[in-house]
Amino acid sequence: MRVWSRLEWQQQSRLLDERDRLRRLHEELRVAATSRRDYEPHDVTDDEAALQADAIEGRLTTTDEALKRIDSGGYGTCLVCRSRIADERLEALPATALCRSCAG
Ligand SMILES: [Zn+2]
Repeated sequence: MRVWSRLEWQQQSRLLDERDRLRRLHEELRVAATSRRDYEPHDVTDDEAALQADAIEGRLTTTDEALKRIDSGGYGTCLVCRSRIADERLEALPATALCRSCAG
């Protein structure tokens, strides 16, 4: 068994919280979009809710992938150049898979 670093434990709990929060948000948006559609079929905000839901799905995927990288031991390593991602960057963006220079 690999021993997790303190950073990995800390980031895992942050990522799990973030995933819960995103799931709730996603569910709320989905319900909002569906209930409005019943009586306002052409409401523009339906599209906005759908776009927001898409964006949240993307973040959920990123968050899940980061959690998998913690499990497999690749967390904190840039997927492009394989260099170590700075701790400060991981603190600010726990789900990031890219170092600062590769993220542009
Ligand atoms: Zn990189």
